[in-house]
Amino acid sequence: MIERRRVSVEGIVQGVGFRPFVYGLAGELGLGGWVINSPQGVVIEIEAPAPLLDTFIRRLQSDLPPHAAIHQLGLEKIAPVGEKTFTIRQSNHQGQKTTLILPDLATCDDCLREIFDPHDRRYHYPFTNCTHCGPRFSIVNALPYDRANTTMRGFMLCERCRAEYENPLDRRFHAQPTACPDCGPQLALLTRKGSALETYYDALLAAADGLRRGGIVALKGLGGFQLLVDARNSDAVARLRALKARYEKPFAVMMPALSQVEMTCQVSDIERALLQSAAAPIVLLRRLGGDIAQPVAPGNPYLGVMLPYTPLHHLLMAELGFPVVATSGNRSGEPIVTDNPMALAKLGGIADLFLVHNRPIARHVDDSVVFALEDDIVMLRRARGYAPAPVPIQTGDQSIIAVGAQQKNAIAIAHHNRAILSQHLGDMDNLAVFDTFRRAVDDFETFHELEPTAAACDLHPDYAATRYAEDMGLPLVRVQHHYAHILSCLAEHRIEAPVLGAAWDGTGYGTDGTIWGGEFLRVGEHGFTREAYLRPFPLPGGDLAAREPRRSALGLLYALYGKDLPRDRLAFTAREIDLLITAVERGINAPLASSMGRLFDAVAALIGLRQQNAFEGQAAMMLEYAQGSAKTDECYPIEITPVTGDQTTGKGIIEWKSMIAAILSESDVQMTAAKFHNTLAALIVTVAQRVGEPKIVLTGGCFQNRSLLEKAIRQLREAGFTPYWHQRIPANDGGIALGQISAALRETNHVSGSSGQTHKHRG
Ligand code: ZN
Ligand code: ZN
Ligand code: FE
Repeated sequence: MIERRRVSVEGIVQGVGFRPFVYGLAGELGLGGWVINSPQGVVIEIEAPAPLLDTFIRRLQSDLPPHAAIHQLGLEKIAPVGEKTFTIRQSNHQGQKTTLILPDLATCDDCLREIFDPHDRRYHYPFTNCTHCGPRFSIVNALPYDRANTTMRGFMLCERCRAEYENPLDRRFHAQPTACPDCGPQLALLTRKGSALETYYDALLAAADGLRRGGIVALKGLGGFQLLVDARNSDAVARLRALKARYEKPFAVMMPALSQVEMTCQVSDIERALLQSAAAPIVLLRRLGGDIAQPVAPGNPYLGVMLPYTPLHHLLMAELGFPVVATSGNRSGEPIVTDNPMALAKLGGIADLFLVHNRPIARHVDDSVVFALEDDIVMLRRARGYAPAPVPIQTGDQSIIAVGAQQKNAIAIAHHNRAILSQHLGDMDNLAVFDTFRRAVDDFETFHELEPTAAACDLHPDYAATRYAEDMGLPLVRVQHHYAHILSCLAEHRIEAPVLGAAWDGTGYGTDGTIWGGEFLRVGEHGFTREAYLRPFPLPGGDLAAREPRRSALGLLYALYGKDLPRDRLAFTAREIDLLITAVERGINAPLASSMGRLFDAVAALIGLRQQNAFEGQAAMMLEYAQGSAKTDECYPIEITPVTGDQTTGKGIIEWKSMIAAILSESDVQMTAAKFHNTLAALIVTVAQRVGEPKIVLTGGCFQNRSLLEKAIRQLREAGFTPYWHQRIPANDGGIALGQISAALRETNHVSGSSGQTHKHRG
């Protein structure tokens, strides 16, 4: 008997070749009906004998195209209309736009074959793509995702490309950025002054020549410019460091092929999968040897490696055959440059040559940075390939915008039961980053036709994002920083409170107006309680302490010994020590902080690893790496004393004094570093046992430390707890906006049911 069904599909079903897949499947089974894009996803009607319809539904879910994902499938039986053929219907784009924008996708194998096939019309064409790969987020100007709404609008499809674009059986059916050498974007090689040296493929060949000779090439990539230099050439890499004024922070490298990665680094199955994934991030890999020049990642046992992810990168790397440094094309602290004139203006003093093209970049998207742990990903910087993929979250009828934190800012919005976290935007101390932030807010609101019912921001009154949020004229939810870190991890894993969170980072504003950062917060159904925290110590110089670990060391020793502290352990002159002690005693710019990040800094300084940071987190990184292959389970003594004056039971202060005293008497740096990490992991278990929640969340910038994370996970499991840590959302402040969204939703839902307290504010 003939039946007809309507199938509503929600998920990642647009811009991934989903309709041609449906068309092909319906054709194969001989079904009548149609498929159409809808604002919520895709709607299909099919008509045939019932068993065939069942087969269709089954295969719809099992045979999906590579990047498609079905989040929800609705089935409805309707009256047959006698349709015998299957068609792809033209979309009408009325109604709410809830359709998702896809992240940019690395070049697929089919496109790769074409660009290296001398008989293919796209041979050596650097802008080849199809529905399974190519730019998305970096070229979209507006929704719906049609060519006219992308930066490809200026390129008229030639006849052959149009035929592919309109053929439902072609891999390029409605591939919005599709192009070929006849109709698409083209390359040019420019001098620093902007005059063209070469065009088309000759531009690429000449750029490769420049790199071979040790030159620095600015390459207009997918989401912005990159600076490239031969990674085997010490002098060339050192020159790039000097010109970029980036002296020690590790550079990432791009390798021509996986085989070369495997000769240079240890690569596990999951790491191989990450390198070759459609997101194609920078993966931190343990180094083995190879020919990478020393200044690429000095003193670092890991190397950030990525594989080519656009045809342009593939062609260039194939031409070169050796690894290149591929670092963001920006001036220190600024967002990466996305257009040609700006590149010449900003990078003219750095790069010798500019390999550019005429496909505009709609917004900057940095390379993402990840590492692998326990057969899964751990995100450090979330941008290309991952943003703006959504996170499911219960929003009810709320629409929230969250503005994030000060460092590593990313913003987020949430409505229609999903949260969307923006790409990494940068540190807001920089004006250019703040500009980018403002554009991202506009961008997000326009794209998603968001009419926010509330905004969420950090509790810190001086964050640029907080001040911006105050002026939005919306009810404002101010969210404590470490609470946001924990909620971010809960939202990512879709787990429910109650949990105990260890939120450890550099600094965050506490509800008591002091600096927090070594926090154990119990998150309940509403709000949180501060169960335990590091005994605060002074940070002479305030924010300067983040750059100078020796300042944290002085603060720590002062808290331990007063003004008779062991001066020989400090990398200051006698006079400097006197001045700093005076400042601490009088409380002049020496705030008390319970910061785990600064405790790491202090220990690194005290054992002589690092006194001044050349980049954020350097001292803590060196302390992690100083462990080498040390094998020990030993810990330092650490106690928890009750919070004085607190009437509730169990709240504790973590006393690190005997640990520091023990560290001062050590002589083996490697063992000290290992025992310090062991102690902190054991501390988490101790507090977990006091609090008694079975679910433990590990969050905050300190958990970017792979060793700390591994040790904490292992010890928690051994003690019978279930640890959760960040995988797809950064543990650092790049994940804060998602936690703010979640806090705002908890608060508004709570408030609508009671008259509970809020921090609402109209700017
Ligand atoms: Zn492709
Ligand atoms: Zn064409
Ligand atoms: Fe933080």
